[in-house]
Amino acid sequence: MAAKRIALIAHDNKKADLLEWAKFNRGTLSRHDLYATGTTGTLIAGELDLPVTRFLSGPLGGDQQVGAAIAEGRIDFVVFFWDPLAPHSHDVDVKALLRIAVVYNVPIACNRATADFMLSSPLLDVDLAVLPA
Ligand code: PGA
Repeated sequence: MAAKRIALIAHDNKKADLLEWAKFNRGTLSRHDLYATGTTGTLIAGELDLPVTRFLSGPLGGDQQVGAAIAEGRIDFVVFFWDPLAPHSHDVDVKALLRIAVVYNVPIACNRATADFMLSSPLLDVDLAVLPA
């Protein structure tokens, strides 16, 4: 099984949801390489006791760093629990990240149901290089 590079991001009102999801899926996540924006990464690393490569905090450019990593082929999946009920100072960065994930055909789960489908997909164990671009 090829380990995937999974980026995790949650807005403040969604951090508890992402943490709970990550704890439930710790076994699966432990077989992959985890990345996250700053605060999300600190919480996940502490809660799961797993290594997490941390980007900057989202409002300080972390979302843009994840987007750049996608563009450079360094991220395979994204779980992004963004908050649809609150405005954010970095709304444009959020939109840019969603856009770049679509541009590069990178799966991006924006709620728990989608994240569950993604993590339980047989494609998780497939070498992505064999899939059509
Ligand atoms: P954070 O950033 O993980 O540093 O809170 C997430 C975001 O607001 O995009």
